[in-house]
Amino acid sequence: MDTQVILEKAVVSLNGIGAQTAVRLEKLEIRRIRDLIFHLPIRYEDRTHIQAINTLAPGSTALVCARVVSTEILDRTRRSLICQITDETGYLSLRFFHFSASQHNSLSAGTLLSCFGEIKQGYSAYEMIHPEYKVIQTVEHCITDDTLTAIYPLTEGLRQASIRKAIDQALSLYNNNPEALPDLLPDALLKHFHYPSLVAALNSLHKPEPGMSVNALLVSPNPALKRLAFEEFIAHQLSQLKNKSIDKHWQAPVLKSTQEQEQRLLNNLAFTLTAAQQRVIQEIQSDCASNSPMLRLIQGDVGSGKTVVAAYAALLALSSHYQVAIMAPTELLAEQHLRNFSHWFKDFSTQIVFLTGQLKGKKREQALQAIAEGSAGIIIGTHALFQDAVSFERLGLIIIDEQHRFGVNQRMALRDKGQHKNSKPHQLIMTATPIPRTLAMLNYADLDISIIDELPPGRIPVVTRAISAERRAEIIAKITNWVKQGRQVYWVCTLIEESEVLQCEAAEKTATLLAEMLPEVRIGLVHGRMKALEKDQLMQGFKQHELDLLVATTVIEVGVDVPNAGLMIIENPERLGLSQLHQLRGRVGRGTEDSFCILMYQTPLSRTSRERLNILRETSDGFIIAEKDLELRGPGEMMGTRQTGQIQFKIANLERDTALLDQVSEAVNIIQQTCPENIQPLIERWLGTTTKYAEV
Ligand code: ADP
Ligand code: MG
Repeated sequence: MDTQVILEKAVVSLNGIGAQTAVRLEKLEIRRIRDLIFHLPIRYEDRTHIQAINTLAPGSTALVCARVVSTEILDRTRRSLICQITDETGYLSLRFFHFSASQHNSLSAGTLLSCFGEIKQGYSAYEMIHPEYKVIQTVEHCITDDTLTAIYPLTEGLRQASIRKAIDQALSLYNNNPEALPDLLPDALLKHFHYPSLVAALNSLHKPEPGMSVNALLVSPNPALKRLAFEEFIAHQLSQLKNKSIDKHWQAPVLKSTQEQEQRLLNNLAFTLTAAQQRVIQEIQSDCASNSPMLRLIQGDVGSGKTVVAAYAALLALSSHYQVAIMAPTELLAEQHLRNFSHWFKDFSTQIVFLTGQLKGKKREQALQAIAEGSAGIIIGTHALFQDAVSFERLGLIIIDEQHRFGVNQRMALRDKGQHKNSKPHQLIMTATPIPRTLAMLNYADLDISIIDELPPGRIPVVTRAISAERRAEIIAKITNWVKQGRQVYWVCTLIEESEVLQCEAAEKTATLLAEMLPEVRIGLVHGRMKALEKDQLMQGFKQHELDLLVATTVIEVGVDVPNAGLMIIENPERLGLSQLHQLRGRVGRGTEDSFCILMYQTPLSRTSRERLNILRETSDGFIIAEKDLELRGPGEMMGTRQTGQIQFKIANLERDTALLDQVSEAVNIIQQTCPENIQPLIERWLGTTTKYAEV
């Protein structure tokens, strides 16, 4: 048989793998024999030697050989069988919650046992709960293994023994036919980074050599694991670069504006542009003036003025008689864009259309029609913009605000809408959540990045204080003073992201409480479950200073802009990520007067939480904050649920392997130069044949 395909066969071709096991394996994305080879252990167990009881440490697993001292049934909190054993160095308890009478009988005093299990701290001594054990005749019968035992991730119904058996077979097929899984990293590169070959790396992970530490997969920089993670990172970057070059085959409309038009927009701005804004606008102008699609990410800290940059981009489309779609993650933010754009473009004849999920009936019909006919030049909305019913007449530019709040698929759907023969719209995406350089390389290597690294002049940094919730009364007293001076306040209630209902309830309670304590203060409440209209009226009221204090959930995280509100109290800040807190804080400090952010934490505060809050006090630089967030929490959390559409790795782990990222670009260069023929196989090995996923 052709050895190239030996590992491409379905897992059912292995001994002992039936249809049912195959279905279970598929849940782990294991279909072909080769997938088994890349299914790495999560940890190891050490059955290579018998451990003396007096050397055991809680939390670890151990093989122990000892005699039964006594066995009894205890009925204390929960009926259990307790068997005390000793090996002359100490005593250990075995505890069973499920047991039979025969089991009880077999564990009579004097019986010799070999047991394997995790050591826990029991009432008086260490114990093992439901250990694997065997009655043996002599110590010599206690079977030890030659190497550490690999423990694999499982799925329901799949047993450790079955998957181990399957992997053993897969591995020996591979070892007999190493050319079936060629090493795609060139020798020179492996030497340069001191990495083992592919076959050596995979073998050493599945069958760790004697002497390897049980913690090898968790902590120590294991070269075999490093090599695989590195290869996976490389594959991801290669895939991004490939997408970028595919994009070059697409055309895009040439978009230009005249000086007169730019001046007309400028006349409606209440400020002059910062140098950073001007630079980024020029970058966009030069991208759009070419007939290949722009794909540009603007990173700019909260308040750096990204919206007006988007307006200049929109002007390019309008002036060239193309439509521009602006998508925001929340209704609140979309509405604010609508207000800004309506004002900035009031001297232009174009129609601005607003489209969100809330829009219904006749109004919705009219909006859809204006978009389809092309009478609407600027279309502002939420993710409702990419519903099937929406069809654009001539979409030339897509602007996505706060892009990290959208999933990859949502962004792609909008882009597909504007697709026309071999032409795609230009795309501008904006974010205030800075992406640390190393992560940007993996997720956004196919994007050009512009950074607005300057805040509009006259901003006074927000003074940030961390104060314990025990001093609530003091904080509330401060509000009274503040409001007396004619200034406004945000009070932000946070809860865990997932539960919007609870978050709203908490905000409602707080609003009622504050109203009781501060009868002279005009208090409003805004949360995610309110109707758009209601929310809008409330925000307008706050903006026009008909309200003094706004109790809010994290819905106000993006976009809300009320310069007179210079005091923000954030409840339970320890629950949020630093970048999110920084975003929230960005709602204050928008005027020219002093402003404060009070982080009202619950005691006791863990050391890490304290450290994290300190970072916010010390800096207002979003990039530094993001880097620290990465250090303290790791990208898993940082890029996790809040940043949907991020890469799922098979083996690499951004937390454990961050250090490798620095070398990825260098390695990619080496591959491009010495073995470009390996690029496609690398991408297929790690990302499969679906490449659309990585597109933005
Ligand atoms: P973000 O980058 O967070 O989206 P915005 O676009 O909302 O920032 O701008 C924040 C505030 O700064 C707005 O009130 C906006 O009008 C104002 N602004 C933007 N650019 C400038 C500038 N060059 N000078 C003064 N104020 C500006
Ligand atoms: Mg913004």
